[in-house]
Amino acid sequence: MGLFGLLVGCFMLVLAVLIIQPESEPVVMPLISAAATPTPGSTPRPTHTATQVTPSPVSSQTASPTHTIIPPPTLTPTPSKTPWVIQRHTVQDGETLLRIANQYGVTLERLMEVNHIAAADFIFVGQILIIPFVGEHELPAALLTAAAPPYQIIILGHSTQGRPIERYTFGNGPAHLVFIGGIHGGYEWNSTTLAYQVIDYLTAFPKRIPETITLHIIPTANPDGLFLVAGKEDRVTSLDIPSVDPLAALPGRFNANQVDLNRNWDCDWSANAFWRNQPISGGTAPFSEVETQVLRDFLLGVRVQGVIFWHSAAALVIPGQCNDEPHLPSQTLAAAYRQASGYGHSSTLAYPITGDAADWLTRQGIAAITVELRNHFDTDWPENLAGVLAVLALFQESHGE
Ligand SMILES: [Zn+2]
Repeated sequence: MGLFGLLVGCFMLVLAVLIIQPESEPVVMPLISAAATPTPGSTPRPTHTATQVTPSPVSSQTASPTHTIIPPPTLTPTPSKTPWVIQRHTVQDGETLLRIANQYGVTLERLMEVNHIAAADFIFVGQILIIPFVGEHELPAALLTAAAPPYQIIILGHSTQGRPIERYTFGNGPAHLVFIGGIHGGYEWNSTTLAYQVIDYLTAFPKRIPETITLHIIPTANPDGLFLVAGKEDRVTSLDIPSVDPLAALPGRFNANQVDLNRNWDCDWSANAFWRNQPISGGTAPFSEVETQVLRDFLLGVRVQGVIFWHSAAALVIPGQCNDEPHLPSQTLAAAYRQASGYGHSSTLAYPITGDAADWLTRQGIAAITVELRNHFDTDWPENLAGVLAVLALFQESHGE
């Protein structure tokens, strides 16, 4: 390689650095003094606080203020322009949508439209709202669409170690369905990645959700257990899991008090519970754990018609039932998921389960099933997509006109 080659190589390197830099080093520059206030006790996650984007029509190569490499003049389109910051507001106790709108100088109607809110009183503490204005300027439509996908993220509460337990809510129909992943944390991390995969699918195809349904997806019911294995608080993927040996992740099954959160519900509850033939903790009392309290309070607080818990790994669909009392709505739900997915059927696992969440829900008159993925790595996407769509169709038929 001659001198020319070396020069071309250097130029490409500088170019690559310039292209990569704005994404790899986000800088938050709030333009509005009334910045979003995080929920007390929570650690705000970067994806929820602010996203830096560049004002249109400036190219993506705009240097940020902390940039230390001085780009060649030909690659600096408009360095003086200030980046947009997509402003988010976390709803606090006692706030109304109108008050928030006034606080940011946005009309109530525009705030509702941007955040897909059907009725002005349909907001919740912990809900994260997109503020469409930056100063006097409306954010470009494409940025608003990207910033406000067809779901709302609401923090239901916090884990023992203070990590948020979030739900993603699509639609606003009268029938509420809930899909829950990760109650067994890092040991069953693929139940969490499946939940995110369903969120991505429905974000791309929101019309697949019937108008009669409100769908809530809780990807991570045991965030401390997941953190123990993945070492990460943002969205987890298979790349975050250090070992291929599922047993290496077993400590991540439990919450930070070493309690199995699917042995802590008030149906056949026992402090001395089992996982296979190993004794494990069901907690000091039913609902002794904050994670199960958060889930219970949410499930009883809305008119939930059906709940699916994703677990791994037994390739089964199990209808909830408490005290050996068959629960017909849960059996109907299980049959729909099983037939579409092709998973096997079982009325129970091979060892006694105490304090199970789905079993407890049947006592509240709520249809609930446990879906066991095939292994500890894969999301069995075709099978579970078919199962999810079958369940949406089932509740559309039950509750549609
Ligand atoms: Zn499990």
